Amino acid sequence: MNTIYKNPLRVKARVAYIYPSTYRVMLSSLAPDIIYTISNSIEEVYAERFTNKRLQGEEPPPRSLETNTPLKDFGLLVTTLHYEPDIVNLIRLLNSGGIPVKREQRATPIVAGGPVVMENPIPFSGIIDVFVIGEAEATLEGILVKWLETMEKKRFLEEVADLPYVYVPGFNDGVKVVKEYVRSLDNATYPVNQVENTEVEPVYGGGFKLEVSRGCRFWCSFCIESRVFQPYRERSLPLLKRLVEDGVSASIWGRRVVLYSLSFPVTSTHLKLLEYLGSENIRASLPSIRLSALSSEVLELVKSVGQRTLTLAPETFTPVLQRVFFKYVDIVDEMIESVKHALEEGFNVKLYMIYGVKGEGVDDVKANLEALKQLASLARKLGRGFSVSLNPLIPKPHTMFQWIGMENPVKLREILGLYKRGLKGLVDARPYDIEWGFIQAYIALSGRALDDVFTKVAMRGGGLAAWRKSLGEEYMGAGHVFNGYGFGDELPWGFIILDNVSRRVAESQYEVFLRLTGSKKAT
Ligand code: SF4
Repeated sequence: MNTIYKNPLRVKARVAYIYPSTYRVMLSSLAPDIIYTISNSIEEVYAERFTNKRLQGEEPPPRSLETNTPLKDFGLLVTTLHYEPDIVNLIRLLNSGGIPVKREQRATPIVAGGPVVMENPIPFSGIIDVFVIGEAEATLEGILVKWLETMEKKRFLEEVADLPYVYVPGFNDGVKVVKEYVRSLDNATYPVNQVENTEVEPVYGGGFKLEVSRGCRFWCSFCIESRVFQPYRERSLPLLKRLVEDGVSASIWGRRVVLYSLSFPVTSTHLKLLEYLGSENIRASLPSIRLSALSSEVLELVKSVGQRTLTLAPETFTPVLQRVFFKYVDIVDEMIESVKHALEEGFNVKLYMIYGVKGEGVDDVKANLEALKQLASLARKLGRGFSVSLNPLIPKPHTMFQWIGMENPVKLREILGLYKRGLKGLVDARPYDIEWGFIQAYIALSGRALDDVFTKVAMRGGGLAAWRKSLGEEYMGAGHVFNGYGFGDELPWGFIILDNVSRRVAESQYEVFLRLTGSKKAT
């Protein structure tokens, strides 16, 4: 449904948009719809989509979803990275399509965007030709026009290297690259006719994907999304209503919407949107709900759109770690009461916790366990679902954790063991794999191109075992992961300017971290 068909013989440029994950994950994400819509709105361009058939093992030769055309027949490849290890999926597709992986050996340029390349493009710089540091609505058309004007790799790279939001390795190294973004979401292209498939249900259920707002008003110290998508912007209520009307009637899923927002519901527009959806009998899947917003009024609105499970991200229930995270400072008791209130009001609850900040001790774990046990026993008494996702802290560029690094795996396993034992039989505890956390941090904080590691992992078919083996062979040390970078040292991603404030925020949060934990400044 809503697939775009053009006559490939009648366009000047055939562009492959590669989503380096499965078809189902692509259908669950809004970015592919935005890119597909913008690219195909240009008459001389036909953008067709590619995804991985599977996340591990051998990948069949990739063919486009629209016209079954082999990947190697496309003149320009565009991709987006939303999760660091997905680079391996891109390489698996290139390999099975007979396309050289290293950028210098390839005639076809690859353009990449998305949060992962915006935070730090360096690890991918042996593979990707053009990094777009910015939002698709504000950048993609300009890039495609340059391609239409040149239609040849070298000239294209020379041309796009002049754009202030583009990094082209080998062309404008060392030059500052400034993020480009849409000033007003109301004026940005929105994909109303989203690609859907009756046989594949997206991860958050079927429904019209509605991005309510972008960016976040808060500055949690670990959060890269809020930095990448600064500043906070939201669509106006009249536009949101119009999008819902048009989108729902163009959707195979009927009167259901999937809301996208980093922090929700935190403004009057968010609340009015929920009111509107409830009054129109439109069901909604909501993003993670901000705990401090969980009033009775909000819970009623959430019920009115049919949501019965709340995803909440307290991260921790200890006052000191809340200060380190800059999230729910000084309201730990209120947070616990809010979760109880949600359970009492009939909701199932999924909690997202972070552990493994350097300096975190057994007492912090005990305090968290106590809060979780209290909540679990209430959930059990009331017959509600209650699960806890346990995530190691993964340090990311542009946050203060770039100078702090990740806790070592032995300590992380000890802490996780305490949680698992403490919650056994009481809570459905779901730990995120510590090794995958390390791999994410290893890539995100890398100051070198990692194409040799990525290529080896891809040759082995991807997956944790392939990573273990390949990192063992190509290991370049992990000091940058476990120690972070020296405060004041030049950072590998220092040339990426996301905004005017992130750097200062990270510095002042780091000062607070040092004071709270008694740690010394990284040198
Ligand atoms: S964790 Fe959530 S609330 Fe905090 S900055 Fe990130 S998006 Fe915003």
